[in-house]
Parts: sequence; structure tokens; C-alpha cells
Amino acid sequence: MKTAYPITEHKYDMIVVGAGGAGLRATFGLAQKGLQTACLTKVFPTRSHTVAAQGGISAALGNMGEDDWRYHFYDTIKGSDWLGDQDAIEYMCKEAIPAIIELEHQGVPFSRTEDGRIYQRPFGGMTTHYGKGTAQRTCAAADRTGHAILHTLYQQSLKHDARFFIEYFALDLIMDEHGACRGVLALDMAEGTLHLFRAHGVVLATGGYGRAYFSATSAHTCTGDGGGMALRAGLGLQDMEFVQFHPTGVYGAGVLITEGVRGEGGILRNDKGERFMERYAPNAKDLASRDVVSRSMTIEIREGRGVGPKKDHIHLDLTHLDPKDIHEKLPGIAESARIFANVDVTKQPIPVIPTVHYNMGGIPTNYHGEVVQLKNGDPDAVVPGLYAIGEAACVSVHGANRLGSNSLLDLVVFGRAVANRCAETIKPGQSHSRLAEDACDKSLANLDRLRNANGGTPTAAIRDNMQHTMQADAAVFRTGETLGQGVEKIREINASFADVKVSDRSLVWNSDLIETYELQNLLGQALATIVSAENRTESRGAHAREDFPERDDQTWQKHTLCWVGDDGKTTIDYRPVHMYTLTDEVAVVPPKPRVY
Ligand SMILES: Cc1cc2nc3c(=O)[nH]c(=O)nc-3n(C[C@H](O)[C@H](O)[C@H](O)COP(=O)(O)OP(=O)(O)OC[C@H]3O[C@@H](n4cnc5c(N)ncnc54)[C@H](O)[C@@H]3O)c2cc1C
Repeated sequence: MKTAYPITEHKYDMIVVGAGGAGLRATFGLAQKGLQTACLTKVFPTRSHTVAAQGGISAALGNMGEDDWRYHFYDTIKGSDWLGDQDAIEYMCKEAIPAIIELEHQGVPFSRTEDGRIYQRPFGGMTTHYGKGTAQRTCAAADRTGHAILHTLYQQSLKHDARFFIEYFALDLIMDEHGACRGVLALDMAEGTLHLFRAHGVVLATGGYGRAYFSATSAHTCTGDGGGMALRAGLGLQDMEFVQFHPTGVYGAGVLITEGVRGEGGILRNDKGERFMERYAPNAKDLASRDVVSRSMTIEIREGRGVGPKKDHIHLDLTHLDPKDIHEKLPGIAESARIFANVDVTKQPIPVIPTVHYNMGGIPTNYHGEVVQLKNGDPDAVVPGLYAIGEAACVSVHGANRLGSNSLLDLVVFGRAVANRCAETIKPGQSHSRLAEDACDKSLANLDRLRNANGGTPTAAIRDNMQHTMQADAAVFRTGETLGQGVEKIREINASFADVKVSDRSLVWNSDLIETYELQNLLGQALATIVSAENRTESRGAHAREDFPERDDQTWQKHTLCWVGDDGKTTIDYRPVHMYTLTDEVAVVPPKPRVY
């Protein structure tokens, strides 16, 4: 295509898109293995959402009581409501232990026990002896674990001479005629220039798409750009119906109060001051897994036992805890509660409500981080040259519901796995084969259209519509009726994108254009989410259908794949759940009822 857009070409062995925990772990791992690696990121690396992770990162170190990675394996499968792939879960839970020791050696300032070991706190759904005891498995650096890990990983990346392109916005994957990924087209936001990054492999580490919803704990930058790029490249996304609501977002503000607060003894109470979780989860109580706690809170509110003038939220009570412990172990939370809820946690409860927090679904991969698709009947066909890790990916280790502190773990374990895989399969400095002349045309046409978009609806108005619809119709509890209405509305809102208006025509720091790209990426994923949710007529993990309250393993123990065409047409198919393990060190856990 003859274009008005000059493009600067760069050649690397590997390109990583995203500099959160997943992207940085992959970047420095690849560089360490001698592969020429560049990392593109739309925000400065240490501003990635990983910086906000509070509670911690799981690993069966057994520093504070008995533990075993096989218990962690069991808990993760149960937490996933038997939708997680058991080979990948085995890999993650076993690799967790060396991964944490490695982070410690790289410089993560973990909190310590009296005798100097890494401090570990209990988290929801984490048990010993296959569901019998409570495990203290979540390694923490006070309540700023993500911050500590992200800074350490950035330092390690710089030490290993990885190249960073900061405030570069990746627009599209560049695929060849055989369906292999050959690079990325990106916009340097400050200069307004276009850059084609050619590589033997592209790793998408772009994070979640929480901002498809109105109230989310995730940063405004969590717009699922990697998922959007994958959809535009004709790839299907997996298990998008599974969206995790965290039980304790600050009422009104959406800011997260970590599960670590309940791990340290915090209690949820209704308007009568009752510890209602005793009724719903007699054993785990406030530390049942997140989907269970969020549903219990929603039922309390619905049945008129919520707190506040509108009886529309719940109290999280810490007033019985020793202020010294709060100061030492939860300083960030005390601060957030003061700033966002005007509450002194040593004297008053925090007003909380279930808030969108994590996307279990994403770009399907195997446990090496290689993107897989259903192709000619092969459900595990690898897409050459394309990898995905972190919240952007669906490995799937979290299945239908992620356990708290398993995401930070997923970032480092699979960030490292992708680096190891590429070190085996890609030779440093290999030459780049020819790329078709028109390889960037589709992406450039989209850029040109969005930049000159002169319709009647501003980006913000379409986004607001989408976020409110998702919040109302793809919520904690779902029915065929609300989902059906939601699908219709999201289809209309997606179609209204044809009428979008971008008022800034320049390319230099055009935040209007960037937000429009982000909206385009969000819309595809909102559609995939709600369509997949309507399609799945059972309840499993975070997907709770009131019209189909039971889990139905016969029909539904399978991963959903959803494609969204450029015209908004959606297609659904399935991949089987991996009900096998990698070694004989653990046995497959067959499905059983999930009670806490
Ligand atoms: C408030 C909060 C607290 C949490 N606490 C915990 C916890 O205690 N324990 C736990 O296990 N999990 C926790 N989680 C979940 C976990 O933190 C996230 O799932 C995880 O950090 C996601 O990391 P990531 O590397 O995949 O993506 P992110 O950290 O979101 O990083 C995404 C990166 O991609 C880049 N990017 C995105 N789009 C583009 C584009 N178009 N072009 C270029 N670059 C792009 C961004 O610049 C950024 O660098 C928490 C989540 C939240 C929101």
C-alpha cells in the first residue's frame, strides 16, 4: 500500500509487548538467554498494573507451617472448578518454589518471619492435605508485593541489556500468509511515528481487560490490547465468560482492599454485625474462594441485609486486630481506606462491594506460553511465532476462577517458561525472511480510519455505554434473559463504533486516538465475554447462572473459544480441558462438588 505513513523498521530476535510482571520476566529471561530482545510498553514499565498488586504471590514453601506443592496443585484445580488444564497447573505449582527463591535472590524485599524466612499469609481457597487444613502459602512484601516484584524485574531487565521502547503503543500483530506472527506495528506516542518491529517471536503480555466494566480494581490502562490485536488477527479467545469479582473493592471508588486483610483476620459483616460467611462456607468462612464470597455478599445485599443508607454494600471489619499488626502488615490498606472511604481501620469497618478484578479468559496458550488454536481438528495447534503470558493469556491455570496470589505466580512462572522455550527453538541472530509488501496494510487502514473518524459519537460516550451494560448484564449473577439483552446491547454498541468521533487529527501525543484504539480492543472482548456467557448454560466458578445453577460436567467441562470478526460476527467452538498431568508425581484430580 502506498501510504502517507513512513515506517521505521527494527529487527530483533524477540519482541515483548508489555512491561508488567509477565512482560518483564519474559524480557529479562530472553535477554539472559542471548536473544536480542526489545520490550514495547504504552506506560513506563513500573507504572504497569502489576505495581498495584497487594496481597502476595503463592508458593508452597512451607515457611509458616506444613505445605506441599501437591496441595497447591489440588487447591488450584478445585479453585478453577475443574476448568483448569491440569498439566499447566502441575507445572505452575511445582515451579512456584524455585521461582520465588529466584525472585528473592534477584532482590525482592519480602517480609520476614522471626527466623528470617519469607513471610507467608493465608489466602482464600488455599489448604493443606487436600482441603482439610489452612495453608499459609502467600509470600508477601507487606501489602505492596506487586510493587516490590515489578521494580526488581525492571532492574533485572536493565541489567541484562534488554532494549526498551517506552510509551510505544502496539497497534497490530503482523501475520504472514501462513498464519505465523512476524512482528508488531507500533506508534511512538510522543513522536507520532510508526515503527515496524520484526521478530522471530512476539510475546503478548498486555494484561487484562477489566476496563470493559464500569467498576474495576484494575488501572485505566487495562484495556486488553493484546486480546484486541489477537481478535483482529483472526484468532479466537478462550473462556472469556469467566470474569472474577473481588469481594472487597472500596464501595464507590472500586479501589482494591486485598484478600490479605481477611488472611490477617479481617471479617465481613452484614447490617446486623453478623459474620455471615459462617453460613455460606462453614469451614473456610471469610477465606472461601472469591466467587463464593462475592456471591454470598450479593445474596446478603439482595435479601436486605446490606449496610449503609441504601443497604447496598457490606462491612469489612478490622477493628478487633492489633493496630501494631495492621501498621506492619497492611500499611497500604490503612492508607487506601483513609483516602478512599474516609475510614480509620483501627476504629471503623471499611465499606466494600464485589468489584471486577481479574480476567480468567484470554489468548489460549500451552504451558510453554505458545499461543494455541483449534485447527483442522487439532485443539492444541501452535500459532507459529506468537506467545502470550500473564493476564492477557489463558494457559489455563485459573480455569473458571482464579485463587488469590496465583496471578503474580502465573506471571513469573510463564514469563520464565516462554524465555526457556524460545531459547530452545530460536537461534540468536537468525536472518528475517521476506515480509509481503502489504503485510501492514490492514493495520494502516484501521489507523487511517480511526484517526480521521468523524462520526457523531465521542469515544467516551461509546465506552460509557459499554461499561454500564457489562456491569449490569454480565454481573456476579447472570440469567439467560439479562445475558440475552446484554448481547443485543453490546452488539449495538459495537456497531455504534462505526460512528465514532475522534477530534484530534495529529499523531503526536494523541490521547483521543489512543483511547479510541483501546475502546476498539475492549469492545471485541466485551462482545466475546457476554456472548460466551450467554452460550454457557451451566454455573461454574465465577460464571453463576441463576437459570442453570448446577455445574454440568457432562456437557460443559470444556474451554470456550470465541472469535469476533471485523464485522462483529461472533463464532463459538471448544477445546477440551487437559485432564492429564506431566509426571507421575501427582495424580489427576477428577471433578467433584466444590464446597468450602
Ligand atoms: C489492584 C490489584 C491488586 C492485585 N493483587 C494481586 C495479588 O496480590 N496477587 C496476585 O497474584 N494477583 C493480584 N492481582 C492480579 C495481578 O496483579 C494481575 O493479574 C497482573 O499484575 C497482570 O500482570 P501482567 O504482566 O499480565 O499485566 P500488567 O501488569 O497489567 O501490564 C500490562 C503491560 O502491557 C503494556 N501494554 C498494554 N497494552 C499495550 C499496547 N497496546 N502497546 C504497548 N504496551 C501495552 C502496559 O504498558 C503494561 O506494561 C491484582 C490486581 C489488581 C488490579
